[in-house]
Amino acid sequence: MTTNNSKLGSVLIPIANRMGVRMGLVEADEVTKFKSLLYRSLPCIEWMGITDQNGYGVMSVRDKTTRRIFVHRLAWIIANGTIDPSTPFVCHHCDNPLCCNPEHLFLGTHNDNMADMARKGRAAKGDKNGSRLYPERRERGPIHQKKIYDAALCCEQNPKAKLTNDQTREIIRLYQLGHSGQELAERFGCGRSNIYNIVCGCSWRRLPGRTDLSEPKKSRRAIPA
Ligand SMILES: [Zn+2]
Repeated sequence: MTTNNSKLGSVLIPIANRMGVRMGLVEADEVTKFKSLLYRSLPCIEWMGITDQNGYGVMSVRDKTTRRIFVHRLAWIIANGTIDPSTPFVCHHCDNPLCCNPEHLFLGTHNDNMADMARKGRAAKGDKNGSRLYPERRERGPIHQKKIYDAALCCEQNPKAKLTNDQTREIIRLYQLGHSGQELAERFGCGRSNIYNIVCGCSWRRLPGRTDLSEPKKSRRAIPA
């Protein structure tokens, strides 16, 4: 058995998030606690502690930047010392999310993990797919969520609006004549980003008489094909 940290018995575990990968510290007593919560359920070695909503074993650790780890990843590191960054996912051969038997674990890429899930029939397809379960969460063209927008107070009727309809029309007109966002922000006493949001149509879209927007607003979220 190998550990990957000089501090006796503690383990460093890579945690991926949107910002990249950071290393979290699992201290020696936490490793001991992890081992005490395993039991042999042949052929697997299962975790008896808490699980996440998908049934994977998780454990809280004291490391401030990490807080919570997947225990099967910890099992892999205790057995193998490290996780190769080119194959950052620890996947299960046995398809038992509670299993921490290192012999049932393998390293893979995100695509490997997805292909493995699809092969085992666990991918959310058909009526289980998010687009069927939660259709309201997917944007679907210009009339999507129209009822919600219609019910909201728009333009100068919105109590948070800092500008009047007339001021906004003037901002759009002047911007089209070549005045800069900075200049208009100072002149109308609002933020520069507010000016850009107005002229690109991210705000004040339903300003009465507005004609400069021909295309529906583009979603910032990429919609998977
Ligand atoms: Zn297993």
